[in-house]
Amino acid sequence: MSIDFEKQLNPAQWQAVRAAHGPLLVIAGAGSGKTRTIAYRLAYLVRNGVAPENILLLTFTRKAAQEMLFRASSLIGQELGGVAGGTFHSFAGSILRRYASVLGYPDRFTIMDGPDMSEILGQVRAELGVGKGDKAFPKKKTILGLISKSRNKEVDLAMLLERESPHMLHYGDDMIRIARTYAEFKLRHGLMDYDDLLFNLERLLLERDDLAEFLRMRHSHVMVDEFQDTNKVQARLVRQLAGDGRGVMAVGDDAQSIYAFRGAEVRNILAFPDTFPNTTIVRLEENYRSVQPILELTNALLRNATTKFDKNLFSRRTDGLKPQLINTVSDQTQAKVVVDKILELSRSCRLRDIAVLFRAGYQSYPVEMLLNKIGLRFRKYGGLKFTDAAHVKDVLAYLRLIVNPADLPAWQRAVSHVKGMGPKTCNTFCQALLEGEQQKIARTTKKFPDVAAAFDLINALRHEKPAPTSALQRILEFYTPLFQDRYPDDYPRRQAGLDQLLQIASGFTDLDAFLAELTLESPEESREEDCDVEDHVVLSTVHSAKGLEWSAVLVIDLVNGRFPSRHAMENSEDLEEERRLLYVACTRARDYLGLFVPSSVYNRFMGGSEPALPSLFVSELPPSCYEELRENYLGQVKPRTPLPAREPRPFCNNPDTPSHSAPLPSPGAARHRNNTFGHCRHKIFGRGKIVEFLPPNRYRINFP
Ligand code: ATP
Ligand code: MG
Repeated sequence: MSIDFEKQLNPAQWQAVRAAHGPLLVIAGAGSGKTRTIAYRLAYLVRNGVAPENILLLTFTRKAAQEMLFRASSLIGQELGGVAGGTFHSFAGSILRRYASVLGYPDRFTIMDGPDMSEILGQVRAELGVGKGDKAFPKKKTILGLISKSRNKEVDLAMLLERESPHMLHYGDDMIRIARTYAEFKLRHGLMDYDDLLFNLERLLLERDDLAEFLRMRHSHVMVDEFQDTNKVQARLVRQLAGDGRGVMAVGDDAQSIYAFRGAEVRNILAFPDTFPNTTIVRLEENYRSVQPILELTNALLRNATTKFDKNLFSRRTDGLKPQLINTVSDQTQAKVVVDKILELSRSCRLRDIAVLFRAGYQSYPVEMLLNKIGLRFRKYGGLKFTDAAHVKDVLAYLRLIVNPADLPAWQRAVSHVKGMGPKTCNTFCQALLEGEQQKIARTTKKFPDVAAAFDLINALRHEKPAPTSALQRILEFYTPLFQDRYPDDYPRRQAGLDQLLQIASGFTDLDAFLAELTLESPEESREEDCDVEDHVVLSTVHSAKGLEWSAVLVIDLVNGRFPSRHAMENSEDLEEERRLLYVACTRARDYLGLFVPSSVYNRFMGGSEPALPSLFVSELPPSCYEELRENYLGQVKPRTPLPAREPRPFCNNPDTPSHSAPLPSPGAARHRNNTFGHCRHKIFGRGKIVEFLPPNRYRINFP
């Protein structure tokens, strides 16, 4: 098959695709074809004789890697199965699987997910007797977050506390003890958390020069997408794997760096040319995704940002609509306006080309409820994972124990149905297994026949080494009666999750790989209907929307405290990251962009609604780059009536002043002379100032 690379790429992309020698950095704005350039380069390399096995493709999600491989293989009409592609974590997992013992781990290890980490941390804390009875002692999630941040940013915990959470500084010593014991626990029980995968791979490559050299030979070409979101250790891994950098290509956009909260370093991309001397830098300026009016808004959003590589994006699609800024009365009515908009848009595009984006998962609940009510299908990204379901976790626990019998959190799940096997007894049993103390093991299995049954099954499977599907089937036979007993009301519904597990397992020949995949890349929770067949609207957190695009994008809850988040508003660096996050959200749109600003939002913690201010990023935008609409109290969305000059902004800009729109309390109470409004009196609210006329006969009034 012949591909006309030159025709399908612009000159800068084509230059990057065929660059033969030396390190390569493509740094360019959103939608300029960076990911497309990687896919074409893959195709180009293979077409020109590079074996797929010699290419390593590191992306942010496995799905992204698969899509690129699919793209490249359809270009050249050749399977690219040999390319090692995936995330840094899954790549690290695949190497460590063979060499963990070099680092002092038991032969085989298991990867923990978030709830496992919490569980272990809780046990470590209890074991140490730290913070007992102290209600103010930091929560498990907070401690885990701090440990992870200190590792990823590579600053010690005490320093991190001093810098970012001084109010917790007096717990510093306790936290350091917890962190140390937690690390020892993981090593002893053959457990790795996400961060361990990266640091352990680095350590392995440093300790085993021969292995590092082998990997460098094997992967003569290393390509990394979304390089702006790598952290320090990931950048060092790229250096270890790329050697002198001859075959390395990094692609990214400093303005889209949105993972600093996890230790990502935007400096990595800026410093790439220093790390690899003689780097060819390619910049792409044409945006192929969005219509020009959307780009004008996103460029304006970035104008106040602190990015180093200046970009000047333009689009040839000059004829599009201006983005809409839609003010709604509340976040509840916002849901209705959003759904109406989806219905309107769906007349001219498919549902799957429409996405609703938000800062945090809970923000889409009102929209979800309404979509359910009217029977419109949706799929949510970045929400609950399929493996978060208790019954799926139960089954995975047995599988994990086949791989790693010292996996304590897995034991705790696997025997949680056995009366008398509390955390302490379970821990003693697991310790006995670790030490090979046969008498102790026998005592437990004798006392608890149900534990014996699980233990026998796991042992049998460990020796037989069946393929993942048969292991899973055997476990399901064992688990089904427990399952029906544990979830008497809804086990038929839950069965779908177990069927999905079987289906995924059928794609694997290796149990470790199957488990790693499920922990690191768990698919979203599937709904009863098959979303892949049916058309569906997409609901997604902005973080999960990275790299993707839709014809229409609706960004909701653009108020201070939600987007930017309350936490980010206290720190200028975090605020910058929120700006980039909004930039990522808006640049996902091809043809239509809607920004939704509710005037009041429900307070999840206190209950009740409270007034909200428009997001400061929205307030900063020049009004010329959007069309403004406003929902009135009758639920109609109309172009906004401009305010008379020198009058205060409507009440949503002043949270201290309650305001109401109502038919005038008494006829003629408003003086409406010379274009200025007067005051009026309301039976209940008293005297108020009229700030806006809502034709034909309503006024918006601020009451003190
Ligand atoms: P992001 O920063 O959001 O990840 P990106 O720079 O990776 O964006 P791509 O996703 O590769 O951009 O491309 C954006 C859109 O533009 C895609 O639909 C892609 O197919 C299209 N595109 C990119 N380059 C070209 C080109 N030379 N000709 C036609 N379409 C292109
Ligand atoms: Mg991309």
